[in-house]
Amino acid sequence: MIDQPRSNSFTFFGLGGSNEVGRSCHILQYKNKVVMLDAGVHPAYQGYASLPFYDEFDLAKVDILLISHFHVDHAASLPYVMQKTNFQGRVFMTHPTKAIYRWLLRDFVRVTSIGVSSTGKDENLYTDEDLAESFDRIETVDYHSTVDVGGIKFTAFHAGHVLGAAMFQIEIAGLRVLFTGDYSRELDRHLNSAEVPPSSSDVLIVESTFGTATHEPRVNRERKLTQLIHSTVSRGGRVLLPVFALGRAQELMLILDEYWSQHPEELGGGQVPIYYASNLARKCMSVFQTYVNMMNDDIRRKFRDSQTNPFVFKNISYLKNMDEFQDFGPSVMLASPGMLQSGLSREVLERWCPEDKNLVLITGYSVEGTMAKFLMLEPDTIPSIRNPEVTIPRRCQIEEISFAAHVDFQENLEFIEKISASNIILVHGESNPMGRLKSALLSNFASTKGTDEEVHVYNPRNCVEVNLEFKGIKIAKAVGNIVDEIQREEAVEAKKENTHALKIEGIDGAKKMQGKEERELSAGEGEEIVVSGILVSDEKNFDLNLVSLTDLREHHNELSTTVLRERQTVHVDCKKELIYWHLCQMFGDIEVLEDKSNITNMIKAEDGEIPMNGDKPDDKLVLQIMSDIKLTVMDNAATVEWTQGLISDAVADSVVAILMSVDSSPASVKMTSKTCDRHNHQHPEELVQQSPIWKVKQIAKLFKEQFGDTFTLMMNKGDEDSKEGEDVNGVITIGKNMARINFSQLKIEECNSNPLKGRVEQILSMGADLVAPLC
Ligand SMILES: [Zn+2]
Ligand SMILES: [Zn+2]
Repeated sequence: MIDQPRSNSFTFFGLGGSNEVGRSCHILQYKNKVVMLDAGVHPAYQGYASLPFYDEFDLAKVDILLISHFHVDHAASLPYVMQKTNFQGRVFMTHPTKAIYRWLLRDFVRVTSIGVSSTGKDENLYTDEDLAESFDRIETVDYHSTVDVGGIKFTAFHAGHVLGAAMFQIEIAGLRVLFTGDYSRELDRHLNSAEVPPSSSDVLIVESTFGTATHEPRVNRERKLTQLIHSTVSRGGRVLLPVFALGRAQELMLILDEYWSQHPEELGGGQVPIYYASNLARKCMSVFQTYVNMMNDDIRRKFRDSQTNPFVFKNISYLKNMDEFQDFGPSVMLASPGMLQSGLSREVLERWCPEDKNLVLITGYSVEGTMAKFLMLEPDTIPSIRNPEVTIPRRCQIEEISFAAHVDFQENLEFIEKISASNIILVHGESNPMGRLKSALLSNFASTKGTDEEVHVYNPRNCVEVNLEFKGIKIAKAVGNIVDEIQREEAVEAKKENTHALKIEGIDGAKKMQGKEERELSAGEGEEIVVSGILVSDEKNFDLNLVSLTDLREHHNELSTTVLRERQTVHVDCKKELIYWHLCQMFGDIEVLEDKSNITNMIKAEDGEIPMNGDKPDDKLVLQIMSDIKLTVMDNAATVEWTQGLISDAVADSVVAILMSVDSSPASVKMTSKTCDRHNHQHPEELVQQSPIWKVKQIAKLFKEQFGDTFTLMMNKGDEDSKEGEDVNGVITIGKNMARINFSQLKIEECNSNPLKGRVEQILSMGADLVAPLC
C-alpha cells in the first residue's frame, strides 16, 4: 500500500509493465484522484503469476481505468479487475477496442484455461460469465472527445499500433499527463500513425519497447519478408508466421495478399496457399470491415474506389482448426498466438520445426520468457507442449523481421521532443533497452540540466513510486454575465484600436487625436481588462470560476450569498407626524406600509401642514424609504432596518440622523406652530435675498450631517465676514459620483448622478425651510 499523496504531489505507481514488457498497469494519483492505465497480463506466465501486482494497491480507490488497446498485455486482466477485486471505478476504451476485446478475451479464456493446477488451486483468472458480466459495464469513448469524470478529464488520440489503439491525455486540476500506450509513428497499410495532441503535457508516460534500436526502412522489410517467403515456398518449404491474432496479422495479410496477386505465375498460379489459422480473426474481420473509417486515407480510398473491402482477402483462406488443414505441400501459415506459448501456432511449430526447408518467421515483438524469444537463440530442440518430457528437434530456419508497430528510437525521440514534457516516465520495455533509452534521452536533453526546463527521465521498477511536485496551476474561467461584461470591455477596446488606426491614416486628424488621448489615458496598448466578480473554487472538479454576484446562485446553486440585515433603534421624543414630515422633506414620496392612525394621509390632505391631534402613541407607523429601508415607529422608539450595502448604509445613516434631530430642529418648532403660515414653501432664490452667511453654514452643516466626510465645503474668503453673493461651494464625492453645490444660490452646479442630485435637491429644500425666519 502506498500512502495518500500530498495534495500537490503527483504519484506514478507501476503495478506491471515497468522494466518489463507485459502485464501493463499503471496508477496515477493527483489531488486525491486516482487513474489506472491498462490491465494486462504477462504472456510468459500463467494464472495469477501473469497478473500485475494488484495486491500492492487498494483498487477501491481507483476512479477511472483507461484501456489503451486490446492486446492481452494491456487488457486481458480487465475482467479479473472488474469481477474479482474491490475495484469500483468506471472503465473506458475506444469503440473498436471494445468490439475486438470481446472476441479476444473469450479466446483468451479458452486458450489459457488450465483448470485446477497442481497446487489444487483454480488458476483460471476468470470465466466466460465474468467476461460477459463485466463487458456491459465498459464505456466507450470517441477519439478527440473529452470526457470528464468528477474532475478527471481525458481525451483519446490515435496511437497507430493496432486498430482502436489510443493514447490518453489526462487532465486533473490543470496538470496534464499523456500516456502513449503502445504506439507507432510509421504510416502503415491500414492505420494512421500516432498523433501529437494539440495541448502540451506536464508528464509523459511513454513506451520504450525498442529502446535505442533503429527500424530498417519499411520498404526493405517488406521486400525481405516477401523474398524470404517466396524462396522458401519455391524450394517446397512451409512458412510459419506466428502472429498475434489481431492487429499486425491484418497488416501482414494485406502485404501477402497484394504480393500473391502481383506474382501469380511465380507462385504456381494459386498452388501455394496462404492460411490464417485463427477462428478468432475470422470473427473479428467484421470489426475491421466495420471500422475502415477509422483507418488511414490510403485504405479508405481503396475501399471507396473498388467498393470491395480490403479486408476481404483473395488469396488467404481461414482455418478453424488443424483438422481442416491438409498439409500436402508448400504453404504459408499465419497462426496465433504470436509468442508460440500454446494453441495453434505452437501446434504448427512442433509439426514443422524438424524439417530444415521450413521457415519460422517472427514478425512481432517477442516477450522475454516466451517460446518466440527462445527460438531466436536457435536451440537444437524445443519442449513439446503436450508432454514437456518430450523434446522435438529444431532444424527449420528461424528469421526475424519486425513488423511490430512500436516506435524505434528516432521516432520515439521526435515524438518526445514534440510533447516537450519536463517529466518522462518510461514503461513497456525490458530493463536493458529501457535503460539505454533513458541514457540517450538524458544526453539529448543535457542542455536543459539545471535550468527551469530541465527534463527528468524516470525508469521505475514495478511497485516503486515516482513522486513529482507540481505547483497548483490556477486558471479561472469566466462564467455567466461576467463574460458579457468582458466582451463589452473588449468591444470598447477594439473601438479604441480602430480610432487609433484611422488616425494613423490621417483621416479627420483633430478628432482622432482626441480619441487617441482617451485611449492612452484609459487603456494603454495591450492593457488588461479589469472585471470584478467572485472567484469560486470547486474542489471536486478543480474548476475555478469567476462569477458575478448576481449569477452566483445560478451557476453554483450549492453556494448561498449572505445578506446582512442591519437594525438600529433610536429614542424619539416627538410625534410620528413630525418624523414622517421630515422624512418626506428629505426623501420625497415615502411608501407607507402601516399607518392605523392615518396620520400620513392627513398630512397629505393638509398639504404639508402637520395636524397635531391624529396620533395615538400605540399605533404603529411603518414606512419604506428608498425601497430598502424600513422604519418602524411605535411609542417612543424608532427602528431602522436595512440590508447592508454602500448606498443603503448611507441612506440609513441619514434616516437615523433625522430621527435624532427631529425634535430639536428649528423647522419642527416652526412647523408645529399653529400660527405659522406657508413661509416654508418659499422658493430658495427668494430666500437667498434675505439670508446672511450663517444660513449657508447651517445648510452646509446639514450636508455634513447627511454626507459626512464625502462632503467638503469650500468658502472662497474663508471668514465669517464674507459677503453674501460670494461663491460658497460644497462638493460631495461618493465613489464615481460627484455633486457640486453653490450654497450662495442654493443650487446644484454640477452632478453626474440623478439619485444623488435628487437627494441634494431635497436637502437644499429642507435647508431652505430650516433657515427661513420663524414667524
Ligand atoms: Zn500492443
Ligand atoms: Zn504492449
